[in-house]
Amino acid sequence: MARLIILGSAAALSDAAHDNTHFVLQGDHDRAVLVDCGSNPLSKLAQHGIGPDSLTDLILTHFHPDHVYGVPILLMQLWLVGRRKPLEVYGLHHCMQRFEHMLDAFMVNTWPNFFEVRIHRLAEQPDVPLLDSDDFRIRAWPTKHFIPTIGLRVEVKSSGQVFSYSGDTEPIPHIIALARDADLLLHEAAGEGAGHSSAAQAGEVATLAGARRLALVHYPVGDADTEALVAEARTTFAGPVALAKDHDVYAI
Ligand SMILES: [Zn+2]
Repeated sequence: MARLIILGSAAALSDAAHDNTHFVLQGDHDRAVLVDCGSNPLSKLAQHGIGPDSLTDLILTHFHPDHVYGVPILLMQLWLVGRRKPLEVYGLHHCMQRFEHMLDAFMVNTWPNFFEVRIHRLAEQPDVPLLDSDDFRIRAWPTKHFIPTIGLRVEVKSSGQVFSYSGDTEPIPHIIALARDADLLLHEAAGEGAGHSSAAQAGEVATLAGARRLALVHYPVGDADTEALVAEARTTFAGPVALAKDHDVYAI
């Protein structure tokens, strides 16, 4: 069974119990796909049985610090433990250009025998193919955020299930399209306003898309009443709603 493992669940302000939002998709065959890197993820991945050579792909949804700040230490630690396999990295041009600048800033060309990082630039268009492997078929849609950002639709080949991720976004038709009939929609709930969505808006998207289950992520933590978010989403979505927490595992 393929798994979605939540590695972080907070919006941009994290706390001791919630790292910034990122997760990994672990397939049955050939892939472990990390989506964003809002912590130093290697030890967390190890806790879930994903070793440094098992990680195959890294998707960066956008170049805001809470989504990419862990990338340099991920790359350095993969190198230090002796990785030789290439790592496939995907994102929009806006993000990949800055990712390349980050590699330059850390002078990875001075790291002896640094493994190959293969950059895949995605067109900023709806329903763009991102990855097709024995485990997953992944497509991307532009979202409405402050900078170019993507959301994802993942077909899991072993189960036939569809997992969708909103990315950071206001509610727009692209998100309904990427979540159409999804078995699980992971949707941000940072709050209503420019560039983001509330839990109630996430529920509306889930309803309009015909999603079967909704999990909220990228929500305010600290003193915020996170459980109230689930009740809020239930006002607009009749299906099961969960609050995704760090280290939660979903079968997909
Ligand atoms: Zn953002």
